[in-house]
Parts: sequence; structure tokens; C-alpha cells
Amino acid sequence: MAVPRSTVHPSTRPPVHGLAVPRWAYDDHLMRRLPAFLALALVAGSAVAQTAVVSGTRPARLIIRNATVVDGNGTPAKGPFDIVVQGGTITQLVALDPVALGRNGASRRPQPDANTAEIDATGKYVLPGLINAHAHLQDERGGSAQPIEYEFKIWLACGITAVRDVGSDTKKALAWRDASNKGTLQAPRIFVYPQFGRPTNADSARARVRSLKAMGADGIKLLGIDRDIMQVMEDEAHKEGLRIAHHVGVEETNAWDDIHFGTTSIEHWYGIPDAAILDGVQNFPSYYNYNNETDRFRWAGHLWREADPARLQMVLDSMVARHVAWVPTFDIYEASRDLQRAKTQPWFTDYLHPTLEEYFKPDPANHGSYFFGWTSTDETFWKENYRIWMNAVRDFERKGGLVGAGDDAGFIYQMYGFGLLRELELHQEAGFNPIKVIEHATFNNARILGKETELGRVRQGFRADLIVVNGNPLENLKVLYPTGVDDIKNGKPVHTGGVEWTIKDGIPYHGPTLMAEVKQIVTKARADRGTKADRTDKSERNR
Ligand SMILES: [Zn+2]
Repeated sequence: MAVPRSTVHPSTRPPVHGLAVPRWAYDDHLMRRLPAFLALALVAGSAVAQTAVVSGTRPARLIIRNATVVDGNGTPAKGPFDIVVQGGTITQLVALDPVALGRNGASRRPQPDANTAEIDATGKYVLPGLINAHAHLQDERGGSAQPIEYEFKIWLACGITAVRDVGSDTKKALAWRDASNKGTLQAPRIFVYPQFGRPTNADSARARVRSLKAMGADGIKLLGIDRDIMQVMEDEAHKEGLRIAHHVGVEETNAWDDIHFGTTSIEHWYGIPDAAILDGVQNFPSYYNYNNETDRFRWAGHLWREADPARLQMVLDSMVARHVAWVPTFDIYEASRDLQRAKTQPWFTDYLHPTLEEYFKPDPANHGSYFFGWTSTDETFWKENYRIWMNAVRDFERKGGLVGAGDDAGFIYQMYGFGLLRELELHQEAGFNPIKVIEHATFNNARILGKETELGRVRQGFRADLIVVNGNPLENLKVLYPTGVDDIKNGKPVHTGGVEWTIKDGIPYHGPTLMAEVKQIVTKARADRGTKADRTDKSERNR
């Protein structure tokens, strides 16, 4: 994909009377004030030479011009603004609307200097960088290698500036986190919540929490755990100041335990309807085996309808009262309600790595690859399951609950990054206004991470994690996809959309450039795989 020259080199325009005139002087709004601007430039003494925006390099000072802003705090769009970033911090938001500027307001606009790079955001929307609250760092799938830069680059190109890693190779994750924080790795910020082994007694559980703290973990992730162990682990985590994400499955513990022990966020959903079943256990068929994933996911499609509606409201009320947040990850179950859609997502053509493609194929040895004999009846139950589930998430927020957004990609036909954008669409389907949907993926996720004074807002003093979007995501969340959208402008069909710039910690990354690199990674991996397959064919023929 070609890098649009005007975007990467926005520094100067043809000289006017020997002066290099920054692009913003051409804005309609300011054209009327151009003489005033020229006077100002002359006073300054000489033309200012700005630096070009270079993808992956942090300029000393960055000005994003003329942006319409959707803050992450659930308020409507406003603007335009000039946003000034110095180092990794948002230092200034200058309102450019006629009321704010007054009669000779052009002079109030931040002036470029020799160390300033500029991004023209005229007609574009600027949002806080998206946070993925349920991610897994994956440099292999099913034992086959997959370069980690593949995942990092797609995340950045999808506008993701931070991820909460809830289970991967902990040592690698911590090293990647530190390199990302230093700016030496092209990746979102990483918050590491290692997944527990299965401690068998209280002492080893407490010791494990302390050792994770000593390693530098940001939190812990619980999964498949007995109640007594969960209790001591949460107790120890609270003492150590570690936050707790709980994948609450259908097991001994359910949402009541999260409420009692003080879980930070419930991941997925099972334990919530399970806590609202009057008889204490779902009506499983006698042959059901939890470790058979086809059984497990099939009958999960019946779970919400078995929850008692009144008891469910009590569960939700109690989660709100005890500040247990909810990261539902709607996207990762979507194949269960519409398998064909999941298998034929358009971005697979250019961007699906062959290692991931292989992992997605039905295989009892791969988690989430359970589509054997998946029927229209299964999909119908799942569609009803989603309706009840979505209503519950909406009820939860209306009661004051904290809803986050994460995608759990790398499983069940969900690609990194694209999965989170699909998650946003599903939050809209659940009935949330797109303004709230964006809040879920930005400020709410920052609150879940305990980073609400630094991340998730377009606000002075916050970290410079921002995205510049070609289009209005409040009108159409699909404009966020790197593959863009088709539209009609001035009577002509155009292909538009996409996150043009993802700025993480003041470092701008050009989305289309990243996706071109991802495509190269995939093309090469497919060619390598083809070569390997050829060789296997020949050796088999020789036998
Ligand atoms: Zn997960």
C-alpha cells in the first residue's frame, strides 16, 4: 500500500511570498485570517522548517491539526482542536471553534518550530488509543512459530495502543513489555497478567502470587480454580496490590465468588448466568463431558436461557456493589452463532498468517477449534444466548457496572486487532450508543487496569496514546478497520476509512504502512509453507 505523501510529509506547502506556509494556513476557516498569519510569521523573523512525521519515530513535538475529538469519557464529539504532544504527553488542546478563537484567535494556535512534526487531521476524528483488555501474546500457535511482530503490527494498525495480556509466556511477555515501554519495540503498551498454574494448597498459592509480583507482573489471571485456592490467591493478590482477571468458567466457583473475594474483572461470561441458576447446576445431558470442547461450547449455548431472570439481576447488582467489572468478549463466541461468517472474514485473504489459519481448523488438540458437527440448531440456540447475554451486559452498565472491551483473539477464527474492532460492533449491537462503545474500549479499560489518570482520554497531561481515524466512528464503527469501507463522496465511489495514525507514547505509527508490512510477513510465510509442502509431497512420492 502506498504511503500517502501528503500525510507523511505534511511539513510544508509551496512558498507564498518566499515563506513556507504550514498546511493549516490553507484551512477554509483560517484563509480569511491569512494576512494576520503572514504578519505573525514575519514578526517571527523567518520561515519555520518543521520535521516530517516518520512512522515509528517520536518527534520532539507533534501537533495534530484541526481534529474532531471523541474523548474516551462517554461525551460527544467536539472540535476542531489542535493537539500538542511533547515527548509522550499530551501538553495542550487548543479549541479552534469560532467561539473559542474569538476575533483574532489565529495567533493562539500553537506555532511550529524546527523540532515540530505535524499531522493534518482536517475532516478526521481523533480518539484515545484503543485498549484491548483481553489479549494473549502469541509467537506460536499449536507448536508452530508465528512472528510476534505480526500480532504487534496488526494491533497498532487497528488503533490499539495498550493490551492486557491475560496468559502467555510470562518471561517473554515481561521482556516485550519493558522493550515497548522503552520505545525500542514497535508494540502497544503491555500489561502482564500471568495465568496461574493450578496450585494444590493455600501455601503454594500464596507463594505463587508473591513470586509473580517479584517477577514484575501487573496483575494475575485466574482460570479453572477451586474455591479455597481462589480465596487465598485473591487475598494475597490484594495484599500485593495486584489486580485480578478471572475467566470464570462452569466450575466450582461462579460470579458469587468473584463478588465475595474481590475480583477486578470477570472475563467472558459463564459464571454470571451460572450464578443465577436456581438449582445450582445447568440441565446438562447425561453424556456431557466438560473437557470435550464440542460438548462444552454446544451446551454453553443453552446457559443464558437457564438463568433465572430475577436472580440474574441480583448477581448483576452485587457485581456493581462490589466493583467487579465485566469484559464480555462477545467476539470470540461469534463463530458459534454464525460459523460461515467467522470462516470467511474478508481480511483473511491478505492478512491471515498460515500458522493461525492452520490453528483455526477443527482439531480437538487446539483450544477453541471445536467445530465438529456444528448444526443450524446450535447456531439458533447461540443466537438466543447472545440476546439474553447482551441484555445482561446492558443492564449491568445501567446499574452502574463497569464494562470493558477485549477480544481474546488468536482463537476461534478471530484475528488480532480485527477481533477488538468486531467487539466494538457487538457492543453497539448490544444496544450501547457508539459513544459508550468507545468509552468501553478506552477509559473503562484504563479504569480496569488502574491507569485512569494516564490512559484512555484525550486530555492534557495524559499519555499521548491517540488515533487519527479517516472517518467518523460514531457514525460507523467499521471505519476503524484497516481494510476500510466503501462510500460515495461527491457522487463518486471511494474507498476510505482506517486508522491513519496510531500514536503510542508520542510515537506515530502509520496504519497503512504497518498493514503493508503485515501482508509481506503473511505472503512470505505462505510461500515458505508452500515450499515445505512441495518437499513433503515429493518425499512421499519417492517412498
Ligand atoms: Zn483468553
